[in-house]
Amino acid sequence: MTSYKVAIVGAGPAGYFAAQALQNLQTEELQFTIDMIERLPTPWGLVRSGVAPDHPKIKTVSKVFEKVATAGNFRLFGGVELGTDISIEQLQDMYDAVVIATGSAVGKKLGIPGEDLPGSLSAAEFVPWYNAHPDFHGVDVPLNCETAVVIGAGNVAMDVARMLALEPSELDPTDTADHAIDALKESAIREVVISARRGPEHAAFTSPELRELPKLEHTNVLINKSDIKAAITRAGNAIEKDTKNNLDAMLLISEKERTSHDRTMKFQFLATPVEIKGAGKVEEVVFQKTGSDEKFTVKCGLVITAIGYEAASIPGIPYQSGKVVNTDGRVKENLFVVGWAKRGPSGVIGTNKSDASDVMKLLVEDLKSAKDKGDVSDLLKDKKFVSQSHWEAINAAEVAAGEPLGKPRKKAVLREELLGLGGL
Ligand code: NAP
Repeated sequence: MTSYKVAIVGAGPAGYFAAQALQNLQTEELQFTIDMIERLPTPWGLVRSGVAPDHPKIKTVSKVFEKVATAGNFRLFGGVELGTDISIEQLQDMYDAVVIATGSAVGKKLGIPGEDLPGSLSAAEFVPWYNAHPDFHGVDVPLNCETAVVIGAGNVAMDVARMLALEPSELDPTDTADHAIDALKESAIREVVISARRGPEHAAFTSPELRELPKLEHTNVLINKSDIKAAITRAGNAIEKDTKNNLDAMLLISEKERTSHDRTMKFQFLATPVEIKGAGKVEEVVFQKTGSDEKFTVKCGLVITAIGYEAASIPGIPYQSGKVVNTDGRVKENLFVVGWAKRGPSGVIGTNKSDASDVMKLLVEDLKSAKDKGDVSDLLKDKKFVSQSHWEAINAAEVAAGEPLGKPRKKAVLREELLGLGGL
């Protein structure tokens, strides 16, 4: 029997699915010990700090992650940052294989004038703010305006728009950060414009997300019926199934009677943002009607761009176009990449399962004789790190604090607070 040591960097869905794939590839002859290294004191990546808090069902995948973590031969090293606390070279030297699963955390830029004005944010800041990510609790989200504009036509834009447009008491039974619920309850925003540069037939939303919009109890969701009819005509007969489902869902929304709710979420299509204007802060967005010279403006005090993500660079790892340079997940000798860091920010959480499984098969093919070069804990002996049992204590404390409030958990935000819950 040979036992190989594998380090997985990043405790999000892609990292856990890679660990699970390795566990599933084990035989009597082939065994793995897995060390998962995570920058934050908490694991689960986007399941904790990305998924919208009003979508708790999506988060139940964390049960799979905990099963992987407690299956044996698995250790968590939370609060340990690759490139700062430990280098990629040290990991490659010590482990038989290293898997990068660090995702894409940086919001893409529009590259238009005014994008850096106060009041112009990326979903990459706003989403972790409402999800209690320790690095984003201080983000300044101006909610003292009547209108917010969300740029992008994907599911992240939809999450962002919904979070801004729903009645905030609907967030009470969720694990939204307390600071965000408090701020949203004070919010003056009553109109959220979700803006797509192309037509409805090209929107990247998925239909289940569109179909749930009419269920919002306190928000009018407005889509121009003529926009959808025109898109149906443009799409023609050879329309793809997903596009048809999307257009059907949007048509249903467009036909819904407007209610007396004072909150609205309004879709705007064929609107290319060309400039964000304001004296010292966002006051309006200038759009060009896509395919024409016609310009129009939307007055607003908050703009959130949700136009995709890029991977943040880690020293010693090659990057290009916002991704780790790789061939089918192979980066260089004994170095692999999975998830969004590998293929860019696309697909749902489950997409990472087959992706990681394919890469782990290549990792097994490439294994040489097992190394015996000491233990990572020797490198971290002066560092306080969050082990699986510390994390279980944090998790239990958050869940217990949420219970009397009817929440799945009450999240701690600051690192020291999280470490304290873990008994560190
Ligand atoms: P996405 O689905 O790729 O959507 C990005 C949107 O940004 C597109 O509509 C794109 O329009 C637009 N865009 C890009 N560059 C732009 C520019 N310069 N100006 C204006 N618009 C621009 O990305 P995402 O919303 O970040 O989502 C990432 C992945 O996570 C997706 O696979 C998504 O389905 C998934 N996700 C799933 C859920 C869920 O299942 N509930 C929730 C959140 C995210 P063009 O098409 O014109 O480029």
